[in-house]
Amino acid sequence: MALIVHKYGGTSMGSVERIRNVARRIAKWHRAGHQMMVVPSAMAGETNRLLELAFSISAQPEPRELDMIAATGEQVSIGLLSLALKALGVCACSYAGWQVPIKTDGTFSKARIIEIDGARVRRDLEAGRIAVIAGFQGVDDANNITTLGRGGSDTSALALAAAFAADECLIYTDVDGVYTADPRIVDQARRLECITCEEMLEMASLGSKVLQTRSVEFAGKYRVKTRVLSSLSDPLMPLEDEMRSGTLMTFEEDQTMEQVVVSGIAHQRDEARIAVLSVPDTPGIAYQILGPVARAHIDIDMIVQNQSVEGRTDFTFTVARSDYARAMDILNASVKAQIGARQVIGDPQVSKVSVIGVGMRSHVGVARTMFRTLAEEGINIQMISTSEIKISVLIDEKYMELAVRALHKAFELERG
Ligand code: ADP
Ligand code: ASP
Ligand code: MG
Repeated sequence: MALIVHKYGGTSMGSVERIRNVARRIAKWHRAGHQMMVVPSAMAGETNRLLELAFSISAQPEPRELDMIAATGEQVSIGLLSLALKALGVCACSYAGWQVPIKTDGTFSKARIIEIDGARVRRDLEAGRIAVIAGFQGVDDANNITTLGRGGSDTSALALAAAFAADECLIYTDVDGVYTADPRIVDQARRLECITCEEMLEMASLGSKVLQTRSVEFAGKYRVKTRVLSSLSDPLMPLEDEMRSGTLMTFEEDQTMEQVVVSGIAHQRDEARIAVLSVPDTPGIAYQILGPVARAHIDIDMIVQNQSVEGRTDFTFTVARSDYARAMDILNASVKAQIGARQVIGDPQVSKVSVIGVGMRSHVGVARTMFRTLAEEGINIQMISTSEIKISVLIDEKYMELAVRALHKAFELERG
């Protein structure tokens, strides 16, 4: 008997028929003798609908109320899934985040899980009941409902798997694994049998939304055996086949085979670039520019400061497109005058494309191939950032898909 966590995404929960199929699959695992914790997301499109409702009433909804509203999508899902399981004769009990409880900090809409108290759920598991736990949500110290950021049900599942020392966490989604690039953009993308946790972390943080970044951090920190697989396959397929399907996340030392140089291409469509022009090149200038932006809980991504000319320099960085207007307001309202910058300019129509691979550590030439490929396609690179295992470039959004396809081909990722 093993303790297994299943996570089902929005498409997997997208209709009553799909929820019934999810229940059939879970019941199959339960009948095989496993203890089961299941984490569903809201039904497809539901979180967007809820957020739109909130924004239709207020242009700047209070973050606490926004989380209160957004969290309800998952509450519907746990109730429906528990009913579907009971209809199959399986004992199941639903839990909202606060009922577990999954304790988080108080950063609404981007809360971080601090602690999970497993006592109540454990009693269910020991009694043979399936615990159906709402993804994406938790509760803070002051008993406020919080949410974990878009795609946060992955993180709920991996955090639960870590807290309960589960034997395996299975992430069921609308694709049958992690691909060399988003299969919606690259037809030739190839499913990976396995991917190292380190690469998955880069892929996720660079835009491959198949897993939320924080979920991969949990998997890595607690060494949770994690597999990404399809929820749209036959729910009654033999368990042994299902356990070998999809993509397994590995920890580098498990790998015995020679690493490929580049494992995948990731993209982040909704980026924005902001440049603060002609600022004095003095100590503290980066802090004066970025400090107020970060204090507004705006994440800053790529940063470039130019070589200074006659004591003045340009300072450029990127933020998520949804934060662009706010960041521009902050800079124009106070920072610009305070530091004596000439101008603040920006472009909200840029995207980031990245090539990723642990094999890059020991191979040169990846940057050369990447830059040559983009040049041949006539794509201008606006910013570059690198780490040991990735190179990212910022480009005009209209070339994003072209860049992903061209790079996929240049690195021969379809071949494996
Ligand atoms: P869920 O609702 O199950 O959480 P998501 O929509 O969050 O599903 O994530 C699955 C989607 O991630 C896929 O439909 C696919 O378009 C996208 N995706 C992006 N990059 C990749 C990749 N490298 N491999 C697989 N899927 C990817
Ligand atoms: N329902 C939430 C979202 O749409 C969480 C998730 O799907 O993981 O972002
Ligand atoms: Mg998701």
